[in-house]
Amino acid sequence: MDCIFCKIANGTIPVDFLYSDELVVAFNDIAPKAKTHILIVPRVHLSSASELKKEDSELLSRIFQVTNELAEKMGINESGYRIITNHGKDAGQSVDHLHFHLVGGNDLGDIVGK
Ligand code: AMP
Repeated sequence: MDCIFCKIANGTIPVDFLYSDELVVAFNDIAPKAKTHILIVPRVHLSSASELKKEDSELLSRIFQVTNELAEKMGINESGYRIITNHGKDAGQSVDHLHFHLVGGNDLGDIVGK
């Protein structure tokens, strides 16, 4: 499948992972919108959060565990951060492979967006 995040997750496109395990990988966003802007990406191809099913509970819990660990590691746990996932056109989803943005490190304003 011609999916950029599948290619990153399976190593076809080399990227420095900030975290990697059997379920998820995490790496810096190529066009950061905040001082810290990390993408947490499941290895399995799901087009967005709308495809998540009951049986994905372990994956979802892992994603939030990893996000917490990365926030701690980046030193933004105290100052605050935002976790975002986009679905579809109106949300501006540009990569059709489920991913969560972890943004922080500066004031993010009052918009719930990326
Ligand atoms: P979204 O718009 O929510 O689908 O987010 C997709 C994100 O992926 C954007 O913030 C892009 O900057 C980011 N992105 C696209 N290609 C790459 C890449 N090769 N490496 C890292 N981040 C990427």
